[in-house]
Amino acid sequence: MRLVNTRDPRNRATFREAIQCGMAPGGGLWVPEPVPCFRDVEALLAMGFQARSAEILHRFLGDEFSRAEVEEAVGSALDFPVPVVRVREGVHALELFHGPTLAFKDFGARFLARMLALAARGDGRRRTVLTATSGDTGAAVASAFLGLPGFQVVVLYPAGRVSPLQERQFATLGDNVRTFAVEGSFDDCQALVKGAFGDADLAARLGLTSANSINIARLLAQVTYYFEAVARTGEAPVIAVPSGNFGNLYAGLLAKRVGLPVKAFVVATNANRTVPDFLETGVYRPRASVATLSNAMDVGAPSNWERIHALFQGDLEAMRGALRRGSLTDAGTLDSMRELHGAGYLPDPHAAVAHGVLAGNLRPGETGVFLATAHPAKFRETLEAELGIRVPLPPALLEVRDRPVLSRSLPADAAALRAELL
Ligand SMILES: *Cc1c(COP(=O)(O)O)cnc(C)c1O
Repeated sequence: MRLVNTRDPRNRATFREAIQCGMAPGGGLWVPEPVPCFRDVEALLAMGFQARSAEILHRFLGDEFSRAEVEEAVGSALDFPVPVVRVREGVHALELFHGPTLAFKDFGARFLARMLALAARGDGRRRTVLTATSGDTGAAVASAFLGLPGFQVVVLYPAGRVSPLQERQFATLGDNVRTFAVEGSFDDCQALVKGAFGDADLAARLGLTSANSINIARLLAQVTYYFEAVARTGEAPVIAVPSGNFGNLYAGLLAKRVGLPVKAFVVATNANRTVPDFLETGVYRPRASVATLSNAMDVGAPSNWERIHALFQGDLEAMRGALRRGSLTDAGTLDSMRELHGAGYLPDPHAAVAHGVLAGNLRPGETGVFLATAHPAKFRETLEAELGIRVPLPPALLEVRDRPVLSRSLPADAAALRAELL
């Protein structure tokens, strides 16, 4: 696959190169160019999820990896169900939380781990995957790389600011996963990661590799479940994407660009309205994030928006035509949650945002799909308090609940991190 830097079209990379360096030179992002075009979408939609996903990814990656390699990566990475659940007439949930860490980030992280292992095969270098997390990413990345030979995982997170269950999902694993509870905020953790990547000596000695959502391998894997949504609903649906860094929406737009029939996408955000505001006003104004109930979407400067901007070549009118949009406050999120619960469906707060914004954008006769990105039990405190119900823990969370946390504590200081890593 050929990729080009969003900041410099003369700058190109292969998929192998792009997934190993993460970010493109000059702070740009890698995007596929040209985007392939599938002329047999009906036949693809008739296939089962795994076979179809391997076929799609092989079409992107076939110039660099054999069919057997892609099939093996897809078969072992995307080995969990992806149900489409009817919520009411014309409205469906695409449930993306049946992977091992119960959030949609399992799709991307698990596929990335396998493709990085293939790309690195035989070169004998050790690699360190360094990531900052406010919750879901750390769990997905740590679980995806756990026990993978040649890879070490380092997760930084703000001490006391991730939920106890989230912390146990990544901080109790041991083996090749090291976790640090940073005395600071999530922004401090991100600054430490950025600093480490900017430290050329450290980056080279550790073989630093990024697994965050700017890595194109993660986004490619996410193209697959948009096909599943269309295959299961049987007609060109309107799809609402609960968005934070906008990687998920980019994957959906890529699916449509290769030929998937999607009537429209709906940008759904919480109070962090940078993108809906841009689509209204035409002025892109990144800002500090504000905390909400759907905390994985608390992003004021979405890192993947640049890719979407590039896909539309900056054409505001084209973006407005393709993207319906809306946002919910926490009060609106709770209303949406109660409405769904009343209809017999239990959503997590992120799915509730997507559902609420979808409802306000669906026109008569249309079929709507909202992405359910996290298992409701991950947010059981909110659900139990607001709905007056008990939310049982699924086995994946019961299993980690009582395990000891293995994290070391770390000051928010680049020298301290360096000393720990070397
Ligand atoms: C990361 C995350 C999102 C936001 O996805 P983006 O690709 O960053 O827009 C939404 N919901 C959940 C549960 C997440 O973990």
